[in-house]
Amino acid sequence: MDAVTSPVRIERHGGVAVVALDHPPVNALSRAVRQGLLDAFAALCADPSVIAIVISGGPGRFIAGADIREMNLPPDAPFLPEVVAAIDACAKPVVAAIAGAALGGGCEIALACDARLAGPKALVGLTETRLGIIPGAGGTQRLPRLLGTAQAISLIGEGRVLKAEEARAIGLVDAVVEGDVLAAAIDRAPAIAKRRLSAAAVPAGDAAAEDAAAARARKAAKGVPAVAEAIHVIRAAGEGDFAAGLAAERAAFLALRESAEAKALRHLFFAEREAGKVPGLQGAVARPLARVAVIGAGTMGAGIAVAMADAGLEVALVERDADAAQAGIARVRDLYGRQVKGGRLSEAQMAEKLARVAPTADWAQLGSADLVVEAAFEDMGVKTDIFRRLDAVARPGAVLATNTSYLDLDAIAAATSRPQDVVGLHFFAPANVMKLLEVVRAARTAPDVLATALALGRRMGKQAIVAGNCDGFIGNRIYAVYRRHAEYLVEDGAAPEEVDAALEAYGFAMGIFSVSDMSGLDIAYAMRQRRAATRDPNERYVAIADRLVEQGRLGRKTGAGWYAYDAAGTKSADPVVAEIIAVARTEKGIAPRAFSAPDIQRRLLAVMANEGAKALAEGIALRASDIDLAFVNGYGFPRLKGGPMWAADAMGLTEVLREVEAAHQAGGAGSEPAPLLVELVRKGCTFAGWRQGEEE
Ligand code: NAD
Repeated sequence: MDAVTSPVRIERHGGVAVVALDHPPVNALSRAVRQGLLDAFAALCADPSVIAIVISGGPGRFIAGADIREMNLPPDAPFLPEVVAAIDACAKPVVAAIAGAALGGGCEIALACDARLAGPKALVGLTETRLGIIPGAGGTQRLPRLLGTAQAISLIGEGRVLKAEEARAIGLVDAVVEGDVLAAAIDRAPAIAKRRLSAAAVPAGDAAAEDAAAARARKAAKGVPAVAEAIHVIRAAGEGDFAAGLAAERAAFLALRESAEAKALRHLFFAEREAGKVPGLQGAVARPLARVAVIGAGTMGAGIAVAMADAGLEVALVERDADAAQAGIARVRDLYGRQVKGGRLSEAQMAEKLARVAPTADWAQLGSADLVVEAAFEDMGVKTDIFRRLDAVARPGAVLATNTSYLDLDAIAAATSRPQDVVGLHFFAPANVMKLLEVVRAARTAPDVLATALALGRRMGKQAIVAGNCDGFIGNRIYAVYRRHAEYLVEDGAAPEEVDAALEAYGFAMGIFSVSDMSGLDIAYAMRQRRAATRDPNERYVAIADRLVEQGRLGRKTGAGWYAYDAAGTKSADPVVAEIIAVARTEKGIAPRAFSAPDIQRRLLAVMANEGAKALAEGIALRASDIDLAFVNGYGFPRLKGGPMWAADAMGLTEVLREVEAAHQAGGAGSEPAPLLVELVRKGCTFAGWRQGEEE
């Protein structure tokens, strides 16, 4: 290892040696770091002048975990277990000085030390299951020896991240040091006794507590296979043989690392980092936000107000009149009330947050807002009227945003004298819970306005993705095609409950017809009515949903929709619906045929990816991974499948195209194969590898 370029340095403080990592930004355990650590321990263990060793990641840091990029590359020695074994084998006391994140492999290194000192900003946890793997360097064996089996199952199984004080309270770190944690570690290291967890026994535990922890972890896991594996391997630690436990852990880790689920989760991990990179924003500085306003305090407006108040912003909640404003703040109170009831918020916190939201019918209040989000009715007339009035009262430089789901953002912006300040902020219901935020860039949106929207998204803890302006933007545009094809499947022979069952078997929390019933069938109905005049006559139109609405079946809220609901809200397939479907088939002379669950899954995945390809080629979506993020964070697409574009790549684009051609036969105009899909198939490329502007 070249001493000059190694990210690991040795510093001497008398008899204490500091192994100092400097591998920005977070000291990820890349090959060079692993090699550097190994070399450092080899040298220091053999050096008689060294009496104790401290591992430090520098101010505000420790080791944030594995280098996730390397997980997609061929394995390259030395591996982390070797490094951890070298630390474990060292005869001198070793202390971890944890000034920042000690996660995953970083936590495993800390566990191999004899003592762990944390700074107040430390974050500690074995978070591997979040990426579909388990700790692979002794974490599942050392943690139960330190904290007991139940605690280890809970921490590893749920991938929990503990703050310094929480970690100290359960004994994961020995002390929290205010001030310079490295200096404290150097000071204390010579007096620390050797305490090898590898030589310790797992403390006797309470079987009921272990079972309860395992049940909680399995529930939170939502089917991530790594969680069951982690529980299994942690329990094996209790059998006492450390080496055997390590071997079992490593074998499970290696198998999981190559699993489709782990690859999908890694893809999403990188997708999240990629999503923030937006062309044209270099040098753009987000405008400062302190006071914001929401116009329209209905379902969405109330949720948006909560999301903003949670982010510490002062929110004016503007309604049509005083009564509507009071109804709006009542919705906000209700949203917080539910959190209090669920034990997620204290009464005092609720009071503090509620105090930030001020209901009003006075438009003059909008004059002091740094950003305004309009969430009134989905109607172009209503929206342009609001933006015209807003233009007159908003202060210069205020960001003017709309939560529209489908409408033309350029037309809304044109109602103002400042289209550069207009942007789409498309939240998803419930707005204070759902992670996705579609930031819609209109033709004239200024870079710093877009930057402000993205900064607001981060501040609210949302996953923001940037979309171009088109009907339905990224998410609803693709969702509309998905829904249309689900209805074609029904008209061609599948029962709605069969379609839903196939989607749920694929991993969706809820099938598309159940989702429609939950949201209410009237909204989509109104939209179909609005568009009736402009619809392509060659596009196949399924009228079954119209028949349902005309019979007063608006979904759950009326006790009937695609399904029947009893008083307790339990759904069942309804013969009335089957009859409506049978009539629709007869009217069109369709002889119903059977669709298997895989038929349904492949068809719906293919049409989503095909529409995604069209959105990519048009520049509506910047990259395929943004579409994946939209669907896993906003539409219940299973994370373990990585999103529709990733899943299409996994299915194979040749196969996807074949399925799209069949879907085109079924759907007619509007369902044509995307030229980009055809081109990728021709070149043997994938969506994941595609970049805007690189096509021939
Ligand atoms: P909603 O009917 O529940 O609420 C609209 C509110 O706006 C009402 O309280 C109404 O009094 C108020 N309002 C109407 N005109 C106003 C005006 N001129 N000034 C002040 N207030 C006015 O509707 P919603 O479901 O909350 O939808 C609001 C917007 O959010 C729509 O554009 C919709 O497309 C979009 N959206 C909805 C969802 C959803 O799932 N409901 C999801 C994403 C986006």
